[in-house]
Amino acid sequence: MSKRDYYEVLGVSKDASERDIKKAYKRLAMKLHPDRNAGDKDKEEQFKEVKEAYEILNDDQKRAAFDQYGHAAFEQGGNGGGGFGGGFGGGGQDFGDIFGDIFGGGRGGGRQQRQQRGSDLRYNLDLSLEDAVRGKTLEIKVPTYVSCDPCDGSGAKKGTSAKTCTTCHGHGQVQMRQGLFAVQQTCPTCSGKGKVIATPCTSCRGQGRVEKTKTLSVKIPPGVDTGDRIRLSGEGEAGEHGAPAGDLYVQANVRDHKIFVRDENNLYCEVPISFTTAALGGEIEVPTLEGKVKLKIPKETQTGRMFRLRGKGVKSVRSHSTGDLMCKVVLETPVNLSGDQADLLRQLDEKIGKSAIKHSPKETGFFDGVKKFFEDLKT
Ligand SMILES: [Zn+2]
Ligand SMILES: [Zn+2]
Repeated sequence: MSKRDYYEVLGVSKDASERDIKKAYKRLAMKLHPDRNAGDKDKEEQFKEVKEAYEILNDDQKRAAFDQYGHAAFEQGGNGGGGFGGGFGGGGQDFGDIFGDIFGGGRGGGRQQRQQRGSDLRYNLDLSLEDAVRGKTLEIKVPTYVSCDPCDGSGAKKGTSAKTCTTCHGHGQVQMRQGLFAVQQTCPTCSGKGKVIATPCTSCRGQGRVEKTKTLSVKIPPGVDTGDRIRLSGEGEAGEHGAPAGDLYVQANVRDHKIFVRDENNLYCEVPISFTTAALGGEIEVPTLEGKVKLKIPKETQTGRMFRLRGKGVKSVRSHSTGDLMCKVVLETPVNLSGDQADLLRQLDEKIGKSAIKHSPKETGFFDGVKKFFEDLKT
């Protein structure tokens, strides 16, 4: 009775907008409607599935509940067809603590639920800027729970099966009298599971799932940035006793780069230029993610000037626009000058000093400002 993910049923992503959901539903409903497919039982079933998915996802509250708890959110207390009990097994809790560093995300607050879907997992994936920009297929190792092979996830020894609990007749709840009141309580015999395993599977000790480090291949789409999540449906923890698995969320974390800083889809970098190039103009080489390119520096370029290289930024993972590379040139003061070289500079300085033309636009403005500042102080 494993149900398909509602998002999957409608063929939309988990962050789909209300409009997208409506659109997907309309399209599928048109295709699958029984009026159009008279007598086609398969299509009728699919239509029901689509309708149910839409009713949940189109309701904000129900959608939120589904996002958090999966199908279990709507099976609580209902006649889930004698499904296996849920609850948060002791083993699972320990496991969560052990791997707490790798996996954030909660276990859902300890509600009693039947047919408890396995937990969602989060995997923090560190990426270089190059890999994030270009995209890459990576292998990751995820410590998780997988369905137990020998018992096929049932928790009962091969050849046997779980029996309906005789105390609660499979309901998981029993009525107890307390004075005048009748109180519903979790069945003490089966701990609310509704079933009792007489001979548990020895591999999983009746849990139906075992710890295992899974190796998964993750396709990182080009353009991802820190905080982007990739959802691998059904790759989370297997549920207990054959309950459906949760999802795995791979969360990207892009490491700092030696040269580039990313902001949205633009890249920023600083490039040093000599003061001769800055004064006379010339051509310099600047780095891009695809290698070096030439950049023309006009004469009389001041330090800190920003040059935009269109389309040399990052291609967005969502839209298909590409950002720019912003190159800030920084003027370098020459060091280790020989006596001759220093003399030449002094000569130049002297000539500039005697010249009637202004050679330092900033300095002139700056000293005018300072003069005014002190005059203002005096008054
Ligand atoms: Zn029971
Ligand atoms: Zn087993």
